[in-house]
Amino acid sequence: MVCPFCEHCDTKVVDKRESDAVSTRRRRECLGCHQRFTTYERVEQPDLVVTKHDGRTESFNPEKLRKGIALAIAKRPVTGDQVDRTVEEIEAELRSAKRREVPAGLIGALVMEKLKALDHVAYIRFASVYRDFTSASSFQDEVKELLRSHREARGDKVEHS
Ligand SMILES: [Zn+2]
Repeated sequence: MVCPFCEHCDTKVVDKRESDAVSTRRRRECLGCHQRFTTYERVEQPDLVVTKHDGRTESFNPEKLRKGIALAIAKRPVTGDQVDRTVEEIEAELRSAKRREVPAGLIGALVMEKLKALDHVAYIRFASVYRDFTSASSFQDEVKELLRSHREARGDKVEHS
């Protein structure tokens, strides 16, 4: 740990507080200049792997998801905060099933579900792009099935129709 004031390398912890479930806040004091500063220690989330339609995989990238949503909401009355929250909610939802691999289609389905509630025009835009990536003949059925199997994996009660 390097002191932000004098770049001395030795610090001591003067106070430790749990700030929330995912990060620990520590007050530190530099042993060189005796200034105090705060550090946050975060638990690194395990990698989430996305499986694409062609079988290839990639790590889940919230930034890529944010860009996809940003394209759909261009010039729509949706704020950056709402986009951030949507990305966070989708990531939390993906991790909640406790599966290491998630199908790319499920991410698209979750985005559509969120956009539908947020802005109908953005939803239509996203759906028209997403539809090109799915090969299934019945688009709506595929989306429904993805959401249903995800919620089942998560342990939710699912109504069978
Ligand atoms: Zn210092």
